[in-house]
Amino acid sequence: MYIIKGDLIFSKDRDSLNCIKDGYIGVENGYIEFVDNQIPSEYKNISILDYSNKLIIPGFCDLHTHAPQFENIGLGMDKQLLPWLNNHTFPTEARYSDVDYAYKRYEYVVEKLIQSGTTRACIFGTIHKQSCQVLINLMQQKGIRGYVGKVNMDINSPEYLIEDSNASIQDTLDFYNSNKDNEDVKPIITPRFAPSCKEDTLAKLGEIVKEFNIPVQTHMDENLNEIKWVEELFPNYTTYADVYEKNNLLSNRTVMAHCIYLKDSELEVLNQRGVYIAHCPHSNANLASGIMPAKPYLEKGLKIGFGSDVSGGNEIGILKSMVLSLQLSKIRHHFYPDESTLSVNEAFYMATKSGGEFFGKVGTFENNYEFDALVIDDNDLTINNDLSLEQRLSRFVFAGDDRNIIKRYCFGKEVG
Ligand SMILES: [Zn+2]
Repeated sequence: MYIIKGDLIFSKDRDSLNCIKDGYIGVENGYIEFVDNQIPSEYKNISILDYSNKLIIPGFCDLHTHAPQFENIGLGMDKQLLPWLNNHTFPTEARYSDVDYAYKRYEYVVEKLIQSGTTRACIFGTIHKQSCQVLINLMQQKGIRGYVGKVNMDINSPEYLIEDSNASIQDTLDFYNSNKDNEDVKPIITPRFAPSCKEDTLAKLGEIVKEFNIPVQTHMDENLNEIKWVEELFPNYTTYADVYEKNNLLSNRTVMAHCIYLKDSELEVLNQRGVYIAHCPHSNANLASGIMPAKPYLEKGLKIGFGSDVSGGNEIGILKSMVLSLQLSKIRHHFYPDESTLSVNEAFYMATKSGGEFFGKVGTFENNYEFDALVIDDNDLTINNDLSLEQRLSRFVFAGDDRNIIKRYCFGKEVG
């Protein structure tokens, strides 16, 4: 067991922030034993990691990113979703049939995630199960936790990146079976998006989800042309969400990326099923997809975390997603004055506790939660030293970056 000391900031709910100046967290076997402004008497002899005057916040949770696209960051940013996929994303992903190629790239990906303060991530690989295995192994070795998905694509995809339908299902099962007992990095069912899967394949994936109780990640309602395409491809379904719903792919273990243009009935079904939305502000801005109404969604009870969505998104770190989500929410308010705007506390909640919930008891400093944390040295951000902890957090969010993160912990262990 150890005790960590510092200026603690964490969310318990979306409205308020919990701040403890010179607070202590007791950590045993990865779990939080106590959080207090003094050390309880029974723990007086335990060793202390002293980060006095540093901020300690929960690690960031990235609900949506694509490991093979890290090498494309900043490229193709003059295109919208569908041409961008065809010109940039798919040719790159095809290279991951080569496991050695994947190893070099994925080593970089995991290092970058750690550097940016992400301790939990929900990640798309490619259609290639061996390369996805490399990614799982690297995350485990380097000490961050989360989910990796072998992508399913068996229709409407380029011939160099398309699977035989039976092989797609079999590889998904193989990948699941090889990793089902892994407690650190787990497999997740990953149809790329409805257009890239045959209806029968979606149905079979839904059966696998039901049988083995596996989580799901995919995309929805990102771009208006994409939505129109889904309507054409799936005329027997009422909405985009209905395609996933009828095929058993929506539950409280599903992450749905984007959801910018939810119809009322879609919002209702996501709420009913308890689906997590990955809000990906950088990607949405870069690909001119639109601005997700984050605040109205929160007010309607939807569960939202952030996704970096590299490389639609150009920022790996969730810190920058927080900032852009706040800025975009204000721009939306300009066009829709009836909508209120996100607060810094809400963005912090989404980046930590709300997104963290998808991974279990993760994302906050409460008893029995898994201890994920970042130690922040904000000395160089503070000319005046009489700021409250809440103000110091806000300054770090808007003016800080990776360089202020001096230690990272995932499930009680230091990483990086
Ligand atoms: Zn994506």
